[in-house]
Amino acid sequence: MSLTASDNSFGVDGQLALVTGASRGIGAAIAARLGSAGAEVIGTATTAEGAESIAARFDEAGIQGSGIVLDLAEPESIANAIERLGADNRAVSILVNNAGITRDNLLLRMKPDEWNDVLQTNLSGLFYMCKACLRGMIKARSGRIINIASVIGVTGNAGQSNYAAAKAGIIGFSKSLAREVASRDITVNVVAPGLIKTAMTDQLGEEQRQAMVEQIPLGRIGEPDDVAAAVLYLASSAGAYITGETIHVNGGMYMI
Ligand code: NAP
Repeated sequence: MSLTASDNSFGVDGQLALVTGASRGIGAAIAARLGSAGAEVIGTATTAEGAESIAARFDEAGIQGSGIVLDLAEPESIANAIERLGADNRAVSILVNNAGITRDNLLLRMKPDEWNDVLQTNLSGLFYMCKACLRGMIKARSGRIINIASVIGVTGNAGQSNYAAAKAGIIGFSKSLAREVASRDITVNVVAPGLIKTAMTDQLGEEQRQAMVEQIPLGRIGEPDDVAAAVLYLASSAGAYITGETIHVNGGMYMI
């Protein structure tokens, strides 16, 4: 399918998208972008209240979709969410693995829990979600998987060895999976945000944030929608010939 100037569906019309961590921040913006372009969206949150608020937001915005509970740190919660997806008997055609956490500490002080929580949520969770959605995509002979990494997975950052390991792992994982499933017309790509204004970066002090903004050639912190636009592009028919790639959305903070 080709795009015309008047076509604002981006070819995601009628597709079923699953966005993890859609309750706020970047995931909420991704869900809104995909939903506004005509996709049906299932958004996940770690709590029932979060899932309800996703559904309410979709309703308000006229987006077709629902909210479900998924805690990637809990194998049982992952199994329940996957079972729920299977019960609906509809195959996810766009999977966005967005959910992520930080547990920052210098390595010498980092507790095994801080390491394990980040690896489990940010990397192993994505392994389970890809496995759960791939079968349907292979059967349909089409699909889009978009994994949210971070500039930190490429540059590294003191105090974030756990986070950087998980995010670098996402990039290697995605390239490998892209090679495995390309013959089925399934693309697997990564979007690597820089500094984006969300609850995750609200934890930074004003001085620290200002120092970081000074390192950004575009001179501002990114908005969640800056990342969502790149995700929509990869999910769209316009992104059909891109796979195994990492798109950096960082205002020029890091250039390859
Ligand atoms: P955020 O505002 O903190 O939102 C995190 C989302 O992940 C929430 O929806 C949260 O759900 C969900 N989540 C947290 N723990 C989870 C778990 N155990 N299982 C399932 N979902 C869980 O974060 P954000 O800034 O939007 O970040 C989104 C993604 O972008 C992350 O992968 C992050 O690493 C990446 N990123 C962010 C930045 C940045 O500057 N903000 C930069 C680079 C990369 P609840 O609301 O239910 O807790």
